[in-house]
Amino acid sequence: MQYKRILLKLSGEALMGERQYGIDPKRLKEYAQEIKQVVDRNIQVAIVIGGGNIFRGVAGASNGMDRVQGDHMGMLATCINGLALQSALEDEGVHTRLQTAIEIKEIAEPYIKRRANRHLEKGRVVIFGGGTGNPYFTTDTAAVLRAIEINADAILKGTRVDGIYNADPEKDKDAIKYNNISFKDVIEKGLKVMDMTAFTLSEENKLPIIVFDMNTNGNLLKLVSGEQIGTIVDN
Ligand code: UDP
Repeated sequence: MQYKRILLKLSGEALMGERQYGIDPKRLKEYAQEIKQVVDRNIQVAIVIGGGNIFRGVAGASNGMDRVQGDHMGMLATCINGLALQSALEDEGVHTRLQTAIEIKEIAEPYIKRRANRHLEKGRVVIFGGGTGNPYFTTDTAAVLRAIEINADAILKGTRVDGIYNADPEKDKDAIKYNNISFKDVIEKGLKVMDMTAFTLSEENKLPIIVFDMNTNGNLLKLVSGEQIGTIVDN
């Protein structure tokens, strides 16, 4: 196996499947099954999940809501998604823990790095909810931060696109996909991988980012097994 410990980042929107809002149970189950495949190969899996399928602070602010208030709602949305994913994983027989950056101790553990590491060593999937726990950040930043803290080998950003292209492949049919690209080239070419805070944090800490299509069956397992799937961003 190429990787021993991964941090999988899933956006909230990915959970919508074909829907316009909320969680599609079918998509949730598919993701749980994909994750189980790698857990069964003894890969340690931590997950950060977004909240965009439910609420984003910026969207609230654009309608006149206080941004911090909106971001608190967004962070809670990530906890809702975390609970949903936890439930779907447990239905597949995968042991999990949900740890949140803001305390909701009746529902989830608070984030404690040492405990997270212990869970991972025991083969439990650890889901990190609540983002970084701070407004004005994103779950991409939370994903990079947690990946660095737990010493993950890489951050795997599961999307609906199969990697990074020189143009938007959903708009430009001539767009060319990169298999490998450096952090420097991503910035120079103005490509969008993650927001700048997340991206520079990853670069500074030499944490490779892999962007791949999470909606194709078996991709996650192929990726951790060392197959060329998606685009790797590293130094
Ligand atoms: N959020 C936040 N701090 C964080 C992470 C998330 O305030 O550290 C809030 C923010 O409002 C954000 C929302 O939670 O819009 C959902 O997260 P994100 O937009 O990153 O989710 P995704 O796009 O991955 O679904």
